[in-house]
Amino acid sequence: MIDESLTMIPGPTPVHPRILGALARPTVSHLAPAFVEAFRAALADFRWLCQSREGQPFIVAGGGTLAMEMGLVNVVRPGERILVVSQGYFGDRYAELAAAFGIRAEVLRSEWGHAVAPDALAARLAAGPYAAVTVTHVDTSTGTAAPVASYCEVLRGRPELVILDGVCATGGIDEPCDAWGVDVLATAPQKAIGAPPGLALCLFSPRAVDRRRGWTSVPAYYADVLRWLPIMTDPGRYYSTPCVNEIFALAEALRMVRAEGIGARLARHARLASAFRAGLEAAGLALFTAPDCRADTLSVALLPAGVEDAAFRSAMAARGVSVAGGLGPLAGKVFRVGHMGNIGPAEVAATLTALEESLASLGARVAPGSALAAAARHLATAPGGSA
Ligand code: PMP
Repeated sequence: MIDESLTMIPGPTPVHPRILGALARPTVSHLAPAFVEAFRAALADFRWLCQSREGQPFIVAGGGTLAMEMGLVNVVRPGERILVVSQGYFGDRYAELAAAFGIRAEVLRSEWGHAVAPDALAARLAAGPYAAVTVTHVDTSTGTAAPVASYCEVLRGRPELVILDGVCATGGIDEPCDAWGVDVLATAPQKAIGAPPGLALCLFSPRAVDRRRGWTSVPAYYADVLRWLPIMTDPGRYYSTPCVNEIFALAEALRMVRAEGIGARLARHARLASAFRAGLEAAGLALFTAPDCRADTLSVALLPAGVEDAAFRSAMAARGVSVAGGLGPLAGKVFRVGHMGNIGPAEVAATLTALEESLASLGARVAPGSALAAAARHLATAPGGSA
């Protein structure tokens, strides 16, 4: 059975037919000129998206978690200390990864739904130096966007490497890696970039590559960036077979990002986010995330009293829209909706319509059309999208 529901979870996001077309190209040798050309373009366009001139991109079969792992084990040695800035489930994942490699992690944690204040980071660094500080740009569990630019100001000139998890941000929220001084960006294609899942994407600053070069080995083989470096600087060679079709798809997704332009893409995400949230609030729902740190890529809303999580998501699915439940302590209390990648006003409108109908079918009091009307002012000005 083909599931044609609208995938409005916070990743993977709907994949545009042009990108699906690239995925369906005949699988060729990883050394074939057409593939090598697409790989080169994907590497260059990924670096461009990260607004980096000097960063070294890595595109490896895997996922966001592998990107996080590559970004950690190549710049921090077992026994060293890192500071994990965490505003949720994915922030905490860095502490788990560190533990798996014998790296000592100290966690500076916010209350869920809030971001760690830059002052709190500055104060905590007095206990440093650390080998690195990890930051989750958008924690997908809470919808919290971290004030990364301010953190980077605090970290400027310090010895700690800045490791940024951009999985739920890259391509939808500004991430000027060079200007901010990000040493490692770890991200993935299946969210705001709009390609299918299956790849780990990393960008290493020269300082990060140098750190890895300073050691003869790291506790990794597949994830050792020095093994990948020759392929990433000259893709027509073999180390481990790259996933040819995924990379064709990523190259196409990035070509679409280039055509739209970073500024326009970020503005579209911001407009769709505010439209969607206006709709949620008009439907009587409360947002979980504090107003000063709401991400443009997803929204997290509290389930209204009397509306049960599984019943709500089934009602949405019955109307052709798939949304996500809460993670960790938020399970059963919130639902999460992604509004990122190659979606537009039509997808936001369809989601709000399904939401109103689903809530009404479960006995919640919602004025029909109220969510859509509230979103309409924003939607009218939101360009782009696949529909
Ligand atoms: N970091 C963040 C912020 C994420 O949202 C996710 C996935 N939802 C990951 C890391 C892990 O990515 P993956 O599931 O591709 O391993």
